[in-house]
Amino acid sequence: MNEAQLDLFPSLLLVSNLRSGRIDYCNKDALEFVGSSREDVVGNNVSNIISRASLIFFESYVRPSVLATGRFSELQMTLVTAQQERLPVLSNVALHGEQLYWSMHSAKSRDKLYQELIEVRDSLELKTDELTLLSRLDPLTNLLNRRAASADIRKLLDQVNRKFVPVSFLLIDIDFFKNINDKHGHDVGDEVIGLLSKTLKAATRKTDVVARWGGEEFLIVLYNSTQDDARLYCKYLHERIAEMRYSRADRITVSIGVTQLPVPQRDTVLQVETLIKEADDALYRAKDEGRNRTVFHTDKRAKI
Ligand code: GH3
Ligand code: MG
Ligand code: MG
Repeated sequence: MNEAQLDLFPSLLLVSNLRSGRIDYCNKDALEFVGSSREDVVGNNVSNIISRASLIFFESYVRPSVLATGRFSELQMTLVTAQQERLPVLSNVALHGEQLYWSMHSAKSRDKLYQELIEVRDSLELKTDELTLLSRLDPLTNLLNRRAASADIRKLLDQVNRKFVPVSFLLIDIDFFKNINDKHGHDVGDEVIGLLSKTLKAATRKTDVVARWGGEEFLIVLYNSTQDDARLYCKYLHERIAEMRYSRADRITVSIGVTQLPVPQRDTVLQVETLIKEADDALYRAKDEGRNRTVFHTDKRAKI
């Protein structure tokens, strides 16, 4: 086979000296790829046409490997053209005597496709994160929805059951909310729900759970809060809510039912259900006893 026939191969062919790095042969495709004439390439060092990083990788890793096994496959490297353009190639290298035989293929389209795939993957990950976050939030209030809150509470209780910390559960319900809707319309009702949500969020810590539990009902789980802490907290909450003003200048009040996590338990799913039921019973009593107040599950029933 003569050089003219080697020029017909649709790949970049190169022969270089293993010791000196001098290029002894280069086919037409390779010359066109690097944009040089045969005289500029043949007789010169391979370091003139490959990037510094590729050269370091070649010297430190590929050369010893070729010396040991006689071959190296799928070597990813970068060629530098006469115009200083950097082009990715994929090479197979074989050793014959003192000479290295290189066959290279352009990896430009492959790299571009790979880059595009990475970009698509990144944007999908971002979208998934956004959707996950959105699926956890109640759209009107931006508080956690009931499903997300339940999941977070189970996680919190798993942690609390391992290393016990007192936790308080508060169910909060707006008093006579139906009257606001009836008097001012549903939009004003929504405004009140939004305002109250902000007040609740502002009154809690990062480690607490704040959720819209139902229509005009909210759940707060206070982390590291004893019964005394919760009493003080609810007093504070009633005061903040009394200061709230919405567009119709009316005031709103809430009723709160509270329960505590008694001792660590194994079954957290059952535990959540029990705690919510206890808080709900206490809330019902707060309504029954005249609203605008807090009742604890352990409080003695008021004499009516
Ligand atoms: P109570 O003091 O006993 O809690 O009386 P209430 O009127 O607050 O309670 P009731 O359960 O009778 O009415 C709650 C109302 O809340 C009924 C429902 O139409 C309204 N509601 C529920 N969700 C929304 C909402 O997202 N926006 C508005 N504007 N109203 C809502
Ligand atoms: Mg209500
Ligand atoms: Mg209600």
